[in-house]
Amino acid sequence: MNGITVRGVGKTYRSGSREVEALRDIHLDIEDGEFFFLLGPSGCGKTTLLRIIAGLLDPTRGRIYLGDRDVTDQPVHKRNTAMVFQSYALWPHMSVYQNVEFGPKMRGVNGPARRDIAENNLERVQLVGFGDRKPNQLSGGQQQRVALARALSAGADCLLFDEPLSNLDARLRMHMRAELRQLVKDTGATAVYVTHDQKEALSMADRIAVLSNGWIVQVGTPEDVYNHPTTRFVADFLGEANFIRGEVEGTAPLAVLQTRAGPIRVKPELPPAKGTTVTCCVRPEYLTLHARPPQDRQTNSLSVRVVHQLYLGEIRQYVCELSNGTRWRASVLGEKTAEFRDDAPAWLCFRNGDATLLVD
Ligand code: ADP
Ligand code: MG
Repeated sequence: MNGITVRGVGKTYRSGSREVEALRDIHLDIEDGEFFFLLGPSGCGKTTLLRIIAGLLDPTRGRIYLGDRDVTDQPVHKRNTAMVFQSYALWPHMSVYQNVEFGPKMRGVNGPARRDIAENNLERVQLVGFGDRKPNQLSGGQQQRVALARALSAGADCLLFDEPLSNLDARLRMHMRAELRQLVKDTGATAVYVTHDQKEALSMADRIAVLSNGWIVQVGTPEDVYNHPTTRFVADFLGEANFIRGEVEGTAPLAVLQTRAGPIRVKPELPPAKGTTVTCCVRPEYLTLHARPPQDRQTNSLSVRVVHQLYLGEIRQYVCELSNGTRWRASVLGEKTAEFRDDAPAWLCFRNGDATLLVD
């Protein structure tokens, strides 16, 4: 069993008289073989947490377990983890082979067996024939594949990634997402992957922890955190979102909100308390635009005015003004010609189950 458990971890950096609380009180249960993501804006503490798991940094408080082993006081090389960095961190004076063979060599694997492991992993990252080159004779994408082959060859129980695709150009980054996920899944290792890119996390993760300012604010599958954010921060960070505040007037069977743009009925995960103020959140792709409100009990209709629109190829994005002046974005799929002109009145609609209630 090689899951990772983080219990009450905090980290305070001290430089002179200045103190930075990089991590507050982190608890995580990462399962054996899971591909787990730490997602959040720059400075939220992702790298700090990853380095504490690797053993490159001591926590100020709390414990780290790999499987059921408490490794908090163990040095890096006793933890059986391998790390891939944004900057590749290959040894420049060594050939590709020597870089990739390094892990097995440290474990005492003999020459021919080492070469087999290296060849096998270079094949998996599609770098057959590159073994004798030096890192500076490779492109950025190729160097990152070598770093990946080196991590895979280490025979580690845990693979740790710190923004490994961030230095690659957009096209290669997209291409490597699926490939990297497959390679990691094939090893069966538990993996922790740090990124600030929500698309990367949504497309690759088994589960995601969203961090903000040293705290974990939500943990869940990509579908969970995208479709059921529990705070405005998570809703905003994971994609585009529209918000409106309202007072809860009724709770059963649907929550009824009284907002300044009209009443809204929502099927919430947890019914909110009557009389409280909550925020209703709807993603642009769950909105539709209509000339007349549909007579359907499962659909909310808000009277709007189309402010302007953007044709983006696969979608048309309408910016609409609600009757209280709030602007919402609606993404309409596959609309080749505009159905609504700018300034036209329209009805902006969404189903009861397609909105989330945030208590803030
Ligand atoms: P992330 O990887 O999410 O961008 P980091 O873990 O690198 O965030 O940093 C978290 C916070 O800790 C930031 O405010 C950062 O400035 C601070 N920090 C990181 N490393 C040090 C250090 N060695 N000394 C002082 N502060 C640091
Ligand atoms: Mg970082």
